[in-house]
Amino acid sequence: MPPVAELIYYCGTMDSGKSTLALQTAHNHKSRGRTGLIFTSKDRAGSGIISSRLGLQSSAIEVDSDLDIHQLVVERLSLGDRIDYIICDEAQFYQPIQIEGLAKIVDGLGIDVFAFGILADFRTKLFPGSARLVELADRVNALQVEALCWCGSRATHNARTLGGVMVTEGEQVVVGDVAPGSEIAYEVLCRRHHMRQVTARASRAGHTSPMSLPFNQEDDLLKENMPENNMPKDKSTKGDRK
Ligand SMILES: [Zn+2]
Repeated sequence: MPPVAELIYYCGTMDSGKSTLALQTAHNHKSRGRTGLIFTSKDRAGSGIISSRLGLQSSAIEVDSDLDIHQLVVERLSLGDRIDYIICDEAQFYQPIQIEGLAKIVDGLGIDVFAFGILADFRTKLFPGSARLVELADRVNALQVEALCWCGSRATHNARTLGGVMVTEGEQVVVGDVAPGSEIAYEVLCRRHHMRQVTARASRAGHTSPMSLPFNQEDDLLKENMPENNMPKDKSTKGDRK
């Protein structure tokens, strides 16, 4: 009896090697004589291409917001195509209903689906497609290649920079790159530096040592977020807490 098909979501920050792993996964299956389909969405290399930062590249089916992935797969099967697996890169950009289509492909057609994507956007909010994947996937795996913040800590968050300055508002999906020089760019940071909005450039500009903390900025942040300002009066009489 063949193993039951699964929907597996591999997620990580930008720079964590998702597309590289997607292409490696495709290669591994191909080399065992299995055939499959590769989907992607809004890859930095252009429409209908999956590219990795290590230089690997492959053609892929572009997932526009109105593509019915399940129907496409059913049509290919009815034409006699063999589909053993499906690889979905940049899955964070897929619509929730398209993620549900992936689950239908797994359960109804018995095809393994390997999805790769970013969990959360530059505002630390889950992408709708990623949220649906976390809800529906048989397994969610965090990528083992860890991207690093400029401070050396594990990078867990994606920051968007506009002209080199970190921003926390704006449209959820704006395609940029981690390559320096572009107007809209992305940088991976640890949570501490994401919360304090200290990018690599800001750390170099403001401090002689990259390890020193942004005290002024932190103080301002603390003041703004200080819960004590909003606390009812009777609690502040509790005295020597602090
Ligand atoms: Zn950091």
